[in-house]
Amino acid sequence: MMQSVAAAFRARPLARAFTSRSVDGFVGGIGSTPLIRLQKLSEQTGCDIVAKSELQNPGGSVKDRAALGVIRDAEERGLLKPGGTVVEGTAGNTGIGLAHVCRARGYRCVIFMPDTQSQEKIDLLRMLGAEVYPVPAVAYENPKNYNHQARDFAKDLPNAIWTDQFDNTANAEAHYRTTGPEIWEQTQGKVDAFICATGTGGTLAGTGRALKEKSNGKTQVWLADPPGSVLYSYISSGGKLTERSGSSITEGIGQGRITNNLGTFVKNIDGALHIPDEKTIAMLYDLLDTEGLYLGASSALNVVAAVELAKKLGPGKTIATILCDGAYRYQSRLFSKKWLQSKGLENAVPEHLKKYVVL
Ligand code: PMP
Repeated sequence: MMQSVAAAFRARPLARAFTSRSVDGFVGGIGSTPLIRLQKLSEQTGCDIVAKSELQNPGGSVKDRAALGVIRDAEERGLLKPGGTVVEGTAGNTGIGLAHVCRARGYRCVIFMPDTQSQEKIDLLRMLGAEVYPVPAVAYENPKNYNHQARDFAKDLPNAIWTDQFDNTANAEAHYRTTGPEIWEQTQGKVDAFICATGTGGTLAGTGRALKEKSNGKTQVWLADPPGSVLYSYISSGGKLTERSGSSITEGIGQGRITNNLGTFVKNIDGALHIPDEKTIAMLYDLLDTEGLYLGASSALNVVAAVELAKKLGPGKTIATILCDGAYRYQSRLFSKKWLQSKGLENAVPEHLKKYVVL
């Protein structure tokens, strides 16, 4: 008889947590991340709330998988040869993932980003060997937008690719081949629902498609959306695309259009939840306090969504989500009293957790 996910977790000897796998190089360390059962939230909901710890990828985020996916795909299709150049427009985790993989594979890495980004991000990318071009932060429609500049730079350069994370489906494919099957195996095929937020849509569509295929359509796939994104209203209204309005403190998620990575999979999404920043911040601090998890805001939003979905689906279910990255890249904001106040979120931190607001 198949044991429950909770029983499978309990049955693991503690020593298992300390066993290690041997891998080949940085790239070998990408993927096969642990699935963490969130204990307090599982007990509270009567469900198993399980979260894929993508912050444990060697570059520190879920985007390591996509970075390797798009580079491997270009290599296999003969578009990128030894000594080649990888170009992307990105301000965050994708650039960091690409810079790591490029170093490990011997490629030149060129990143275009809006000049509104923090100096820390520019410094980190440069420390990882990337060439960084901060360009004026203009709208997507403007040809000087950082994405178009990245595309144009690669177009004129021999043996260079523009990785185009939003519309290059090698991104979702990486999650279809790895993240989805890993969750299936780690839950022993007992995963009733998967929910996460989207930036490019690669994680949701790739993982969701794999889980739907493996479960013969039984695993529900839901989308979690921050303020300022149009996907919640798109899915809830049965496909009406509205203008973007509003904003969120979360980074790396929220979308104004149906990317190629979401593509036709969007029709298979079972539902969407809108998660306000107040709930995200409260969960961020709660997960630190109860589980010792130090997470970025998109991870906290995903966990809020998983808990809300558990309440909708009822006890006894297994709900999987993603811990996208750690708080290290955002700590000067997320743990700063001044910053929380500037966003009107100081009261979102529960009174007994205010001791963690140390900056
Ligand atoms: N969380 C963070 C912190 C991210 O950087 C990203 C990628 N933009 C996501 C979530 C969303 O992942 P995806 O692009 O696969 O939708």
